[in-house]
Amino acid sequence: MIEFVGVTKSYDDGAPAVENFSLRLAPRRITVLVGSSGSGKTTLLRMINRMVDPSAGHVEIDGEDVAGRSPVTLRRGIGYVPQDAGLLPHRRVIDNIATVPLLKGEPRGAAQLRASELMNVVGLSPALARRYPAQLSGGQRQRVAVARALAGDPNILLMDEPFGAVDPIVRADLQQETLRLQQELRKTIVFVTHDIDEAFLLGDEVVVLRPGAQVAQHGTPTDILAEPADDFVAAFIGSARGKRRLTISTRRPRDGDDRVVVDAGGYPVGVITAPGGRLPVADPTPRSRGGTQVVG
Ligand code: ADP
Ligand code: MG
Repeated sequence: MIEFVGVTKSYDDGAPAVENFSLRLAPRRITVLVGSSGSGKTTLLRMINRMVDPSAGHVEIDGEDVAGRSPVTLRRGIGYVPQDAGLLPHRRVIDNIATVPLLKGEPRGAAQLRASELMNVVGLSPALARRYPAQLSGGQRQRVAVARALAGDPNILLMDEPFGAVDPIVRADLQQETLRLQQELRKTIVFVTHDIDEAFLLGDEVVVLRPGAQVAQHGTPTDILAEPADDFVAAFIGSARGKRRLTISTRRPRDGDDRVVVDAGGYPVGVITAPGGRLPVADPTPRSRGGTQVVG
């Protein structure tokens, strides 16, 4: 369990990047921090694994202030996937993935065996094991980064715009893989993005941030889509929305929530509010018909 308690971070100049931020994160769920560039998302994420220390307040993991933990041991228990994958260029894929087990003193053979298992888990062909990062596509590099983050078998996974630099088709693939992996692994995942569609797709809970990491709204995608807290949130949701073909669909099988409206790409765009119960599911046009209304 991760908890931010009144956390502020000021860099040398200007307004604080994060100001008096408090949040308790749901264990074994995906929490998405979403906000525009500069809103303090990366700073928040890095305070969890002590890549950044707060100026005031503190971060707790399982009730313990992380300030009391050595950064090195703390980070071995927390997987981190940066936007640029952050792979070591002079190490082969297999050794990049095995980094943490090797640091922990595992024998090389065992570490590499674990690394090849993880390549399979994240959908990388074994043929790529002996390549160097520069010989991979962007999507493959991100998969390696995810495998590397999982190699220490952490309970917590921090993902900082991990799919921001890959093309939309590969990104959609990686998003689906993330959901599939999480069904199996059930980690506590903190996922940062500026993309509200990605936030709604991946998040069990979504935290919409204003500058200074001020929480504009915190809730499930369904909550936020159905009832944006204010104009800021409504605009943030709305700004990404073009003209789309909408269908009613179960957003994710495990949710069993049949009130979510998705677009052709499978991204949630709204929630059906039907007074008094079940939806006219056969109706292919969800917008304003028979007392059913799309919100969001
Ligand atoms: P986000 O990830 O949402 O884009 P960041 O946490 O990276 O936001 O940055 C929040 C604010 O803090 C920005 O104004 C940024 O310029 C500033 N900032 C981030 N890192 C540093 C740093 N190392 N030194 C000075 N200012 C920083
Ligand atoms: Mg950032």
